Amino acid sequence: MSKAFKVKDQHIQNLGNIVGGSKSILYHKEDLMAYDCDGFTLHKHLPKAVVFPKDTKEVSELVKYCSTHHLPFLARGAGTGLSGGAIPLNGEVIISLVRMKRLLSVDLENRRAVVEPGFVNLKLTNSISDKGYYYAPDPSSQYCCTIGGNVAENAGGAHCLKYGVTTNHILGLEVVLPDGEIIEIGQYGIPDSPGYDLLGLLTGSEGTLGIVTKITVRILKNPEAKQTVLAYFDRIEDGSQAVSDIISNGIVPAALEMMDKIAIEGVEAAAFPVGHTKDIEALLLIEVDGISEGIDEQINQILAVCKSRNVREVKVAVDEQERGRWWANRKTGFGAMGAISPDYLVQDGVIPRSKLPEVLNKINQVSIEFGLRIANIFHAGDGNLHPLVLFDARKPGETEKALKAGSACLQVCADAGGTITGEHGVGIEKREEMRFVFNDDEIVSQTNIRDVFNPNNLLNAGKLFPSPGRCVEIKQELKEKTSSPII
Ligand SMILES: Cc1cc2nc3c(=O)[nH]c(=O)nc-3n(C[C@H](O)[C@H](O)[C@H](O)COP(=O)(O)OP(=O)(O)OC[C@H]3O[C@@H](n4cnc5c(N)ncnc54)[C@H](O)[C@@H]3O)c2cc1C
Repeated sequence: MSKAFKVKDQHIQNLGNIVGGSKSILYHKEDLMAYDCDGFTLHKHLPKAVVFPKDTKEVSELVKYCSTHHLPFLARGAGTGLSGGAIPLNGEVIISLVRMKRLLSVDLENRRAVVEPGFVNLKLTNSISDKGYYYAPDPSSQYCCTIGGNVAENAGGAHCLKYGVTTNHILGLEVVLPDGEIIEIGQYGIPDSPGYDLLGLLTGSEGTLGIVTKITVRILKNPEAKQTVLAYFDRIEDGSQAVSDIISNGIVPAALEMMDKIAIEGVEAAAFPVGHTKDIEALLLIEVDGISEGIDEQINQILAVCKSRNVREVKVAVDEQERGRWWANRKTGFGAMGAISPDYLVQDGVIPRSKLPEVLNKINQVSIEFGLRIANIFHAGDGNLHPLVLFDARKPGETEKALKAGSACLQVCADAGGTITGEHGVGIEKREEMRFVFNDDEIVSQTNIRDVFNPNNLLNAGKLFPSPGRCVEIKQELKEKTSSPII
């Protein structure tokens, strides 16, 4: 422990002692301000402290300390979450996992790798690509977000249409429970375990059930061949219909992304323009991969579908450089909105793919109703929409208006038989919108599961579920009806 570390606040002193002194704890206001929000910047709260453990043992000791002293705490990866999951609403002690960032092992024979939670997503693919392997889940933030954060949010990405989201690639977890106990879920080398699917439960639990300290992931062999198509449409309805047609023709592209006119204006004004035609209403970025045989046939089918849907122009990437430019343009799409608007709010609804034309039309009506421009950049193949509400926080009342417009977009998705998040999580942003898809009983059932793991609700409290109200009454009624604890 560093000798110089001596502070008046006993909790800070003790937490600092666990992680080895002043180099591994932040507690001055000016330092804490960098941790008052994540990628959802509309809410800000200062944490009590930020601690940087170096291993699972330290995480466990920190958690035990917080639990014993009733200090609220939460885990944080890179802080790129878009729903406020890492915001310290209750002045939490933030346990940052960024120093636990090692690639622990790669087992090509069994096609798996073991990483610490702070390991950055893209680094995994970069570490194994020379051996012909990659890690499939590819959120657009993959150059900086952590695999621990991906597990907590069950992150998706452009290539999740064919390969599945994070949960489909997690084989084992080491987790520190909210009382400090360290458990392992999943067995190394065994594809499935008997009993309840705890891996499935933990993945996507938004940091409310435990802190993930080690992750075994599935890695895949690089596809033999890959081809990418860019298609420009004069009418958004034609682009949307082409999405449905491609899939109903039996093709499952590795990725099938869409951008509308406002989104194209943004990406062309930002850091990675590629010269997209601007007077169109929609573009599709379509990628197919697999064994070489059959790829050309799939591309021909895709071109035929686009033509049948009145595509204005369609082209196939001539080489890896061109493909890379198209993807950089797409993957930096959210941030690119900063080039055309002072502020923007990212939404994340899911709809049945066949409802795309109808839902995009309704989102346009939301835009008109609220008087705010809404850009759409999204994983069209999965029906995972990302309406980006553009606004100017300097104008009085406009932030509130943007939040309401975002919520209205989610209502449109729920009404279309979809749901309120595909990959960014609920966090604090969409807590109330949980009521669009779950009734009180269903919410209570879910908080009962949380309470089994996190009975004192000290870990990441106030996230994922609507503010207490009728749900609390239901819980009380249930408790009165049964002598045994509700589980
Ligand atoms: C420009 C941009 C593009 C994005 N694109 C995508 C996309 O395509 N797909 C997608 O799914 N998301 C996307 N995101 C959202 C975000 O990157 C993901 O949600 C990511 O998984 C968050 O990882 P993180 O390390 O930043 O986690 P954080 O933001 O630090 O934390 C997110 C949540 O996970 C919890 N958590 C973090 N680490 C752990 C751990 N070790 N154990 C338990 N809980 C933990 C936190 O408490 C919090 O609730 C994007 C974000 C940005 C800014």
